[in-house]
Amino acid sequence: MNKNIQELAPQILWKYFADICRIPHPSHHEQAIHDYLVAQAAELGVDCTTDEAGNVILRKAATAGMENRKGVILQAHMDMVPQKNGDKSFDFTTDSIEAYVDGEWVTANGTTLGADNGIGMAAILAVMASKDLQHGPIEALITCSEEVGMDGAFGLKPGLLQGKILINLDSETEGELYVGCAGGEDVSVTFDYTEEAVPADVRAYRLELKGLKGGHSGMEIILERGNANKIMNRFLLEAQDRFGLRLASIDGGGLRNAIPRESMAVVTVPVGAAQAFEAAVADYERLMQTELKGVDDGVSFRALATELPSCLIDASTQDRLLKSVAACPNGIVRMSPAIAGLVQTSTNLARVVSGEGTIQLQCMMRSSADSEKDALADVMKALFSLAGARTELSGAYSGWNPDPTSAILKTMKAEYQKMYGREPEVKAIHAGLECGILGGTYPGLDMISMGPTIQYPHSPDEKVNIASVGKFWDFLGHVLANIPSK
Ligand SMILES: [Zn+2]
Repeated sequence: MNKNIQELAPQILWKYFADICRIPHPSHHEQAIHDYLVAQAAELGVDCTTDEAGNVILRKAATAGMENRKGVILQAHMDMVPQKNGDKSFDFTTDSIEAYVDGEWVTANGTTLGADNGIGMAAILAVMASKDLQHGPIEALITCSEEVGMDGAFGLKPGLLQGKILINLDSETEGELYVGCAGGEDVSVTFDYTEEAVPADVRAYRLELKGLKGGHSGMEIILERGNANKIMNRFLLEAQDRFGLRLASIDGGGLRNAIPRESMAVVTVPVGAAQAFEAAVADYERLMQTELKGVDDGVSFRALATELPSCLIDASTQDRLLKSVAACPNGIVRMSPAIAGLVQTSTNLARVVSGEGTIQLQCMMRSSADSEKDALADVMKALFSLAGARTELSGAYSGWNPDPTSAILKTMKAEYQKMYGREPEVKAIHAGLECGILGGTYPGLDMISMGPTIQYPHSPDEKVNIASVGKFWDFLGHVLANIPSK
């Protein structure tokens, strides 16, 4: 099936892509593709090293007369996401991807194709092999395990790369240039509580908040959907004051990088306040349905009578928890002043869960500006220290802040305009990309990301547009020939 792919133009690139499809390379099973890259480098006579993390670094000297150009690092990742249709019998660690031409597209038979990021790798090998491209000094960085936590990018040491410009080849729409992404950091907060006996003359309820859409806490934070932890907390704080509500346990949210969709709490209220409390729950559900109309229409909030709990969270801790969660920043903190419609800084209160004498909170902060993320971390620490809780920061990685003065952006815009008669779209995303991490290790690197048009990556419907691969390759050649001098 790979045969007709090799006949596509530009042949120099598709030939390598057909090879890559033959070599199994799901994340964490990357030895074979690593060995292939090393063997190709040897065959082409280009310098090749593997670093401690398992990344492959290639080097090709400048073509005649181009030695004074700024060094360019071409970057792609070597692993692919292994996804197949339910009825497809396929072993990603041993079987070749069955890639084929389907009209305007190349796709695979029942599995992911691995155009993400096989086309990027193939383009790098084609640049290394090319005898007719004009270019300055070129390095290539092919990272490992991008799809499962960007291990290769995180493991790359400073001092290995000399280039001043990095062109990442892992974007998915031809004609779009990416110039920024968000970094991230986890905030974990712990409250200690003591158990208090349940007083007489109370009734217990299980409060259930459900039906929110949730979503990815980076890409979808701009939609301003309801956050289950914040919505539950708002009710609890109000009911503490109005009815003397007491909290026995709480469990809201799930994944640390998801907007929480549900929250459950077991509470007590004095028997005398029970009726008013039940009415307040119904009122609050209607209020949330009004406030979230068009955003989270499915929201529901119920109080179900339940058995008395064995104990309560002590009143002081409950009060400090509810007040600090009410004050905890959540959602969009700042929009980008450089790129319209881009969230620059955000935070998501992902988890609130009690048990065994502690209540744990988890937030994930994101920003393309590292300084804003640090400032937000200081706000979190200040808030929760006032509330008598412990705050820990972990998992920090750098963002990539759009640089409107970037030389590679200027070169690419001018070349694209000359070749295709229109400006490319300049974009950034509010989620992590390898560029953020690489730029953190190599400060001052002038970075940009481009690619051919790939649809449905990470799914068995993945396909790459053939014409866009041709444009991507031509554009890359023109850009390399027009890199500014040192
Ligand atoms: Zn990718």
